[in-house]
Amino acid sequence: MTPVSYFPHKNNEMYVDDIAISDIAKQVKTPFYCYSSTAIEASYQEYKNAFSAQDALVCFAVKANSNQAVLATLAKLGSGADVVSMGEIRRAITAGIPANKIVYSGVAKSQEEIHYALTLGILQFNVESEPELELISKVATSLNKTAAIAFRINPDVCAQTHAKISTGKAENKFGVPISKARIAYKQAAALPGIKVQGVDVHIGSQLTNLAPFAEAYQRIAELVTELRADGHDIRVVDVGGGLGITYLDEVIPSKQTYADLVKTQLGHLNCKIILEPGRSLLGNAGILVSSVAFVKNGEERQFLMLDAGMNDLIRPSMYDAYHQIIAVNKGTKVLKTYDVVGPVCETGDTFAKARQVHASDAGDLIAIMSSGAYGAVMSSSYNTRLLAPEVMVKGSEFSIVRKRPSYEDIIKQDIIPSWL
Ligand SMILES: *Cc1c(COP(=O)(O)O)cnc(C)c1O
Repeated sequence: MTPVSYFPHKNNEMYVDDIAISDIAKQVKTPFYCYSSTAIEASYQEYKNAFSAQDALVCFAVKANSNQAVLATLAKLGSGADVVSMGEIRRAITAGIPANKIVYSGVAKSQEEIHYALTLGILQFNVESEPELELISKVATSLNKTAAIAFRINPDVCAQTHAKISTGKAENKFGVPISKARIAYKQAAALPGIKVQGVDVHIGSQLTNLAPFAEAYQRIAELVTELRADGHDIRVVDVGGGLGITYLDEVIPSKQTYADLVKTQLGHLNCKIILEPGRSLLGNAGILVSSVAFVKNGEERQFLMLDAGMNDLIRPSMYDAYHQIIAVNKGTKVLKTYDVVGPVCETGDTFAKARQVHASDAGDLIAIMSSGAYGAVMSSSYNTRLLAPEVMVKGSEFSIVRKRPSYEDIIKQDIIPSWL
């Protein structure tokens, strides 16, 4: 799936399914996120088909896009959820994902969150440290329940991705070092209220090369064999997420190639496989649509100033991420070179420098591609800008799936103390 697969131009006009983006923009003011439910279904089905020969459960990483309409789309297809907070558990359950398809990751789960997950009866806790394990044991015992757990193992491999989204090196905060894994499992087996069932690994995000996965999974397979020899009944391997997407021209291994690799490295263990894809399910199923506010002729460069900013899509400022920027109506315009910037009072509010975009005027619509994952979920109302609404399209229908709040909604959350 490329950035434009589900957002093609027909007669120079960008479409999503059977609807022109400009028709949506007439009813929903810019900026807004736009998701293709057809694209979400297609990428989920790619995973299902690729893993059809294995006992595998796709648990969508909710943090990539937690909109209820997105989660309900995936729930209907049979997807589970990988969650990292009580809020995400609540979102998953509310959208129809059953508790027995929920795996719970995250480095600092609170007592309240663990309590909630235990009462629901989730599929698995992915435990990131010994103190967390002790807390889970304590809460489970007090509830007279058993928590099914896997340790998140830090395999000490380099994911060859951006430093801020690499998680599997020894210096990262995530997981139990592989060298200490056998001791950790031994402690877990001795604790009340704990059932050891699996091993979990997640080495990073936006991986474009399968070699780090192969290295990590090989180490995990060796560990599973050792743990079984130690007497642990390991039945589940959670292989995490992290498969990348094409933002510009990255060549991403197919999901089938990835599935084959999982089978080669882990198949002989006869474990249930849990997958936690986020970006690779949603990234290219959504775009951020904005309008040109002004075209400014600077001394050295031309600026395309958009009505969307870093508060709407933070990836370019936070990770130096590349997103294709495309005129919704290309018309007969020529390409020009622009710095594409937002309205927020920060120099970092820059989507692209020296980028070729079709010549644009104030009011023209601009699409920031590949924004379906880690877009809306990371947005904020910095500069007291209203959170961009989200729209979902299927065929010739579209719906607003999150409304734009009003200024009153935002301001009324603050409280002026009576003693002021
Ligand atoms: C973020 C995360 C994922 C999803 O990663 P993607 O790169 O979006 O596929 C999966 N598992 C865990 C534990 C995560 O933290």
